[in-house]
Amino acid sequence: TQPVYHEEDTNAEYIADKTVAVLGYGSQGHAHAQNLHESGVDVVVGLREGSASRSAAEDDGLRVATPVEAAAEADVVSILVPDTVQPAVYDQIEDELEAGDTLQFAHGFNIHYGQIEPKGGIDVTMVAPKSPGHLVRRNYEAGEGTPGLVAVYQDETGDAKGEALAYASAIGCARAGVIETTFREETETDLFGEQAVLCGGATALVKQGYEVLVDAGYSPEMAYFEVLNELKLIVDLMYEGGLTEMWDSVSDTAEYGGLTQGPVVVDETARENMEEVLEQVQNGEFAQEWITENQANRPKYKQLRAREENHDIEEVGERLRELFAWAEEESEDEEEVAEV
Ligand code: NDP
Ligand code: MG
Ligand code: MG
Repeated sequence: TQPVYHEEDTNAEYIADKTVAVLGYGSQGHAHAQNLHESGVDVVVGLREGSASRSAAEDDGLRVATPVEAAAEADVVSILVPDTVQPAVYDQIEDELEAGDTLQFAHGFNIHYGQIEPKGGIDVTMVAPKSPGHLVRRNYEAGEGTPGLVAVYQDETGDAKGEALAYASAIGCARAGVIETTFREETETDLFGEQAVLCGGATALVKQGYEVLVDAGYSPEMAYFEVLNELKLIVDLMYEGGLTEMWDSVSDTAEYGGLTQGPVVVDETARENMEEVLEQVQNGEFAQEWITENQANRPKYKQLRAREENHDIEEVGERLRELFAWAEEESEDEEEVAEV
């Protein structure tokens, strides 16, 4: 089993006197910058000229400069712009990285697939919260933590891991726990997970289930509730207490039917397909396809996105979620009345 670090394994000294440049103020950037700042670390946010994010960072009380200026000033440069623009941003700031500085990532794609070849003399590390940025921020504000990963790719100073753990602590991850990994393992498992199970697998399962019901003559509303809406309730149970708590919470009929038919639906063929997906992540085929797709201005991405948005389940869902929002407002109002 891999080591898991907590607050007591971190030492704030590694980062206390340093300036951290956070490049990008999006999902991860706004959370890292504000959490670091409130943990007492000197932070400068790096944004391009005319950046739409600038006012948000300034309103949050942070200093803003260009990426080049921020990197020039900083000892640690945390690169939190979208993965597809990181190579270009790295080219701009490379000259500003001095011996002993740190280049810090939240995902390993560009290093692992050779899109950024960091210069010598610097440390290269990763602190990757395992959650969207708004939760990293919200948990920190609530005094709670967000689980994260830590990895070292290049250690010129001998302090790379200590500093990365101090960074992880400053953004709140060590309150929950930080798992040690490598750039390779983080990148490949992240891509596989999102493709085969989380984003790709789950949406495909939902759409197929919906289509099977509707094609068999059942109402779209019923199909939506059964295969999409209720999925959240099942996932919440698994998240809280694993598969066992989920099975314990559903009816015995659901449990028996699920245990017998689940492997019929996601069968050996599905497993072989997953292995194929993993292979294309491991051999770099997927990465190359995505890089080429971006260079061509994303034709396939745009087409697939449009098809997804036009799926029947989206229209049904939009209608039904409106009804739900109305129901939720109603019950919140009732609660308020009850409190008064
Ligand atoms: P976002 O898409 O939210 O980043 C947007 C920010 O990047 C904005 O401030 C934007 O500024 C800036 N930006 C966009 N394009 C450029 C450009 N060409 N030059 C300079 N700045 C630019 O990124 P994420 O937070 O989603 O991802 C950042 C990193 O974190 C990635 O490596 C990602 O893999 C990783 N990560 C993300 C997670 C998530 O949940 N989102 C989870 C864990 C890791 P502007 O206003 O100027 O456009
Ligand atoms: Mg990912
Ligand atoms: Mg049911």
